[in-house]
Amino acid sequence: MLSLKHICKNYGSNKVLKDINIDFRNQELVAILGESGSGKSTLLNIIGGLDKYDSGDLIIDGISTKKYKSNDWDYYREQKLGFVFQSYNLIEHLNVYDNVNIALMYRKRINKKEECSKILNNFGLKNFKKRNVKSLSGGEKQRVAIARSLVKNPSILLCDEPTGALDSNNSLEVMKILKEISKKKLVIVVTHSEELASKFADRIIKIKDGKLIHDSNKYISNEKNNKKSKNKKKRAVSIFEALKLSFNNLCLRKGRTFLISMAGSIGIVGISLIISLSSGVEKYMQNEEEKAISNYPIKIEKNSYDYNDVLFKDINNEKCHDGVICSNDDISNSDEIVDALALKENNLQDFKKYLDANKKLNNISYINYLYDVNLNIYSDKNNIVYPSNISINNTT
Ligand code: ADP
Ligand code: MG
Repeated sequence: MLSLKHICKNYGSNKVLKDINIDFRNQELVAILGESGSGKSTLLNIIGGLDKYDSGDLIIDGISTKKYKSNDWDYYREQKLGFVFQSYNLIEHLNVYDNVNIALMYRKRINKKEECSKILNNFGLKNFKKRNVKSLSGGEKQRVAIARSLVKNPSILLCDEPTGALDSNNSLEVMKILKEISKKKLVIVVTHSEELASKFADRIIKIKDGKLIHDSNKYISNEKNNKKSKNKKKRAVSIFEALKLSFNNLCLRKGRTFLISMAGSIGIVGISLIISLSSGVEKYMQNEEEKAISNYPIKIEKNSYDYNDVLFKDINNEKCHDGVICSNDDISNSDEIVDALALKENNLQDFKKYLDANKKLNNISYINYLYDVNLNIYSDKNNIVYPSNISINNTT
């Protein structure tokens, strides 16, 4: 079912695994022993598809994994493997039942409730269903972790130092469970303890400096490596499952959720206040500007000067432009400015016609017309004419 052929693995210049060859039986408890740093975890990770080998081959059910794509590795891990680690890797904010149920996330056509209850009963965890994993002892946590890895019924169980954090009684308990499991499945256990290995394992493999130095119960598979890779379906978590998990997470971390919601709300309210305040102030300023400007009437006279010629005269001067140093001679003197002031005549008749035609012009409070007509005043006596400065003042 599972074979390692000339597996080598390097981390940079560090040769961690050197030409490892192992054929595993379908049912056996294999203990991998070796000093710390000898490459046990690396070997287990390669078997579990968590790490890639550099050369050699991992044969799964007679199929080479040399051409495996990430999709194939996902399928292999999801369908065939269960993992148990020294640190349990349980989700602390979920209860025992949910921790086990999470392993069935990708499974659709099974009764998840029934499967979870069955496995928890098998491991003596019937009464722990609703217990938060934080409140469990190390041995209990490891039992939950084993239950979680087995609930999807994998054919291979990979355990990296499953008893590493446990006292001797709990270690014995866990090894007994693994022994029981190995009657139906392949169980590979990495351990430091020769004592536990010799007591429970069917087969002991020793590794030293990345080399296999001892195999107590060697097996050579006669499975032919010529099967073709099957087409595997991609599996995805349903939206309902994902939403349920997210909702559980939010509910179980009430304090954090509340604080995040509060902080989010304060942020949103703050931003809204700033936006409304700034738009209010802008409107107020505009009103004030309009009021202030309306106090200064616009006066349009018959004759006016066009200052544009004067203002832009120097700028348009060919001698004096960007990047050129100009002398005083290049800049217009006051006489030139006066010359440039052109007297222009406004067409007031047409302008008045326009104003009369558009009586309802916006923002005009009143119009005051001044006509420059001198009235001559006649005296009764001697018909003498007295010129006068009185003008007709027509206010609309
Ligand atoms: P063991 O499990 O037997 O204690 P490991 O397989 O964890 O040993 O590590 C074997 C060697 O590989 C060690 O020297 C370790 O430092 C090195 N090693 C393990 N993982 C990595 C990694 N991800 N990157 C670089 N070196 C690693
Ligand atoms: Mg290790």
